[in-house]
Amino acid sequence: MGILQDRVALVTGASRGIGKAIAQALAHEGAKVALCARNAEAVRKAADEISPGGGRVLGFRADVTDKADVRNLVQTVVARWGPIQILVNNAGINARIPIESEDDDRWRAVLDSALLGTYYATREVLRSMPSHTQTDGLVSGGRVINLSSILGKFGVPAYTAYCTAKHGIIGFTRALALEVAGRGITVNAVCPGWVETDMAALGMRETAETMGISPEEFRRQALAAVPIQRILEPKEIADLVVYLASDAAAGMTGQAINICGGQVMS
Ligand code: NAP
Repeated sequence: MGILQDRVALVTGASRGIGKAIAQALAHEGAKVALCARNAEAVRKAADEISPGGGRVLGFRADVTDKADVRNLVQTVVARWGPIQILVNNAGINARIPIESEDDDRWRAVLDSALLGTYYATREVLRSMPSHTQTDGLVSGGRVINLSSILGKFGVPAYTAYCTAKHGIIGFTRALALEVAGRGITVNAVCPGWVETDMAALGMRETAETMGISPEEFRRQALAAVPIQRILEPKEIADLVVYLASDAAAGMTGQAINICGGQVMS
């Protein structure tokens, strides 16, 4: 029996990277896990890799910025497995958008994938998320876990959209934590530093290019700011999410927890 045995979970943006690792870790602890992403084939493949033919891990095509998609997704999962007890708002995109570029569409897309997506999915899931369950003396309800970033705690030039979105996720987390505390639902944000994924590789390539250095040289410079001197693996973020989803974390809500090798200490 895993510590999340038979809980129903939804992880957005789970076809690769951190979201896929989170889905895998939740499933490892016994949860039934729905994954979503915009690319249907990729998300179904990810679900199948986590649990081949098992029926306890399912991939769905859904764009979190599309309200109808999100409603449809949540209704489908609830009809199949019952109310969602763990929601992980992980879907997001990043882009380097210097302020003078006037790239309104890309700026809005970065904000929408993080903020609107988190809002739509959370609102829809909360309609049926159970309140106040009692397990071994701990009173706890559902869990909402939002992916912010250490860029939700400080700024980086040319990343106003991403920094705005990730600071916004922390504000959303704090306000919602207060709003649903009476239902025994906790809401927390996870703030990773560099994590080895496609998104991080893109960020390194883009920044290296503008600095006129190689991605390898940029990586060396980026690591100099990380006390543990390495980039985190997606599984390390997933393990923190499993803890936040567990009954043991019933006393934590409204927090924005850094997991960044010591790069940020406040
Ligand atoms: P990634 O490798 O680029 O994966 C992003 C995932 O989100 C993919 O499955 C992607 O699939 C999905 N996605 C993107 N937009 C979506 C949308 N509108 N609707 C549904 N799914 C969507 O990114 P990652 O590095 O794993 O990042 C995951 C989260 O962690 C993000 O919120 C990111 O901001 C945060 N984070 C990452 C790092 C890092 O260093 N990697 C650090 C701090 C925070 P499709 O493209 O098929 O939709």
